[in-house]
Amino acid sequence: MIRYVAILCVAALCLAGGAASAVAAEPPPSETRLAYATGEIVPIPASIPHEEGDMVDRRILPDLRWIAQRYPIYVTDGYSGPLPNGEYAGCHGCHTRGSDHYNGLAVDIVPLEPSPRCDAKWTAITRLALWAEPSQNHPVLPFRWVGYDGDVGHGCGHHLHLSWNHAAARPFQLAEWVEVFPVPGLESSKKTRTKKVPKAPRGPSGGISQAPTGGLSPRGTGD
Ligand SMILES: [Zn+2]
Repeated sequence: MIRYVAILCVAALCLAGGAASAVAAEPPPSETRLAYATGEIVPIPASIPHEEGDMVDRRILPDLRWIAQRYPIYVTDGYSGPLPNGEYAGCHGCHTRGSDHYNGLAVDIVPLEPSPRCDAKWTAITRLALWAEPSQNHPVLPFRWVGYDGDVGHGCGHHLHLSWNHAAARPFQLAEWVEVFPVPGLESSKKTRTKKVPKAPRGPSGGISQAPTGGLSPRGTGD
């Protein structure tokens, strides 16, 4: 993702004034935890704007809710895969091999107020992308891969992809653990347990081989 913030601010909007820029930039998560609580693919709740039917592993919901409270997001896809009832959740055939969407640990995001162009409506999404990945291919934990400007098929005017770091897992299986940032006061934060997390080395961003946290590949396969 290329650093567009300054450009956007000048070109598009510091005019956006009101809501978006009234909120100070969030500091990056100061700590993360590995959530070993049992995973489950669940519907995204109404408090997080989303496309009907979208689901994720419930262990990332507190983080996602925290994000939704601070950024005007609309989730267009989460878990992509079969459900126990035989139906298929999420976008079928949209994601690359090894995508974290197949484990319910990734979301695709657009502005709550949609715009097909990279305009002021995307300013807050760009801010969110830079919060999760301040410089290209160096996501801040707990994020494993961030797809935005500079990543094919992603970016301002297209969509933002966020993957949470997680234990290696086959497609359509729940990961043993997922790395999250703690959200005070939420029940699921209490179910996490603190553990020293290895510093994320560079590596493929696919959904399978991430004992090392990663998030780097030319195209990114975590989308
Ligand atoms: Zn994606």
